[in-house]
Amino acid sequence: MTERLYDQDSHIRRFSAVVQACLPAGDGWEISLDRTAFFPGGGGQEPDTGVMGGVRVTGGREDGDGTVWHRTDGPLEPGTAVDCAIDWPVRFRRMQHHSGEHILSGLTCAAHHCNNVGFHMDPDGVVIDFDVFLSREQLAELERRANEAICRDLPVSVEYPDGETLAELDYRSKLELTERVRIVTIPGVDCCACCAPHVRRTGEVGQLRIVDAEKHKGGVRLRVLCGAAADEDTRVKLENVAAISALLSAKQPETAAAVQRLLEERDALKQTVNALKNRLVELQLAALSPTEGNLCLFPEGFDPIQCRQLADSAAELCSGVCVVFSGSDGEGYQYVMASQTADMQAVAKAFNAALQGRGGGRGAMVQGAVRATRAAIEAYFHQ
Ligand SMILES: [Zn+2]
Repeated sequence: MTERLYDQDSHIRRFSAVVQACLPAGDGWEISLDRTAFFPGGGGQEPDTGVMGGVRVTGGREDGDGTVWHRTDGPLEPGTAVDCAIDWPVRFRRMQHHSGEHILSGLTCAAHHCNNVGFHMDPDGVVIDFDVFLSREQLAELERRANEAICRDLPVSVEYPDGETLAELDYRSKLELTERVRIVTIPGVDCCACCAPHVRRTGEVGQLRIVDAEKHKGGVRLRVLCGAAADEDTRVKLENVAAISALLSAKQPETAAAVQRLLEERDALKQTVNALKNRLVELQLAALSPTEGNLCLFPEGFDPIQCRQLADSAAELCSGVCVVFSGSDGEGYQYVMASQTADMQAVAKAFNAALQGRGGGRGAMVQGAVRATRAAIEAYFHQ
């Protein structure tokens, strides 16, 4: 069984140890030491990485006998003493988030009689699931209390209580095990079975922010950031608020209301534009008179909806096919064809074949695109 230095002090980042065993494993090696500060992973926290006697530690695991195996990119001779260093910024960030999770979960489970039913840590933060739904106000209060516990700089202790003490103990993540259960305690805040290294005192968490909350399986899923990650997130959001505030000439705390007003103005403008577009179609139609044969129209600035409306109504004014084009000689044309009498599929097929167009459709209206000049199109339909 490997001696775990992080149980004595989670801030040991450099240490020396003696290689016990070294075995090839996949494309690397697995090495065990007599003692280690490398956390082998577990409880939602990834294994530590770092260097060991000149080889790189890329991962780790613990076997059933309590031996910690370090995955490395090179072998080391058993019996040699090696200097080791863990990637401290990565480990410290993980400890901040993991301890922050314990603080928030301890407070939440006690206040709302719920359970933490999911915990996932990624390089930027943590995701926590609770089996009750919590409102925005409840989450704000929990966040406030978590930061209060961080400010009080409470000690975080790690113990392996004896079976009798353990049986009496009220702690989260209760296990069937009756011995060698590692209990992490933050007085007045949380008591939980957990195998991972934690900060020494809650003040090291720095701060805790619930940055996202969504309903999840009848409960709630939270995204939480601690320490520098929370700082960085806050900085980016403040920059955004400042930019929106400047763009809308609104005070920073009033940006959401200003955006809401902008959306309402946009909706009103959309309605006005749609009314004007319909009016333009009506004016185009009013200018047309009943026509023998085909009708080719090139209305300026019409969108596809206007083109369809115009083709549909204008088809009643001609004995042949009514085709509405939008576009230009340089960029080609989109077309909509309609007729009260002709077989539109056949008309479109012949037109596409003659002028290298594409498109089609069903029923009395077809649409497509063509790369031809207005003159060539008009010559085709008026031949
Ligand atoms: Zn934990």
